[in-house]
Amino acid sequence: MVPKEIIYGAPDAECLMLYAYCDLRQGQDGWSARGAQYVADKLGWQARTVTEHAKHLEDLGWLERRREGRWAVSLCGRAQPSPSARESEG
Ligand SMILES: [Zn+2]
Repeated sequence: MVPKEIIYGAPDAECLMLYAYCDLRQGQDGWSARGAQYVADKLGWQARTVTEHAKHLEDLGWLERRREGRWAVSLCGRAQPSPSARESEG
């Protein structure tokens, strides 16, 4: 569920959409959105659009970059599953 702070406070519509996508993804399998190009394909954007708005959300403290050797973000304050759960990522 997208918090009302995001709905009313997102700097632009893309940020809201990206947050909603990350929320959906983490809600489904509990894992963070990974791969800027993958997310871009899902949203019908360019990869740089994804990274640009992820930065906006990161600056606002709603999203955090994950250090996984690959572009990845997760929603702040959400629990991540144990590493073994990564095996089931589709
Ligand atoms: Zn933005």
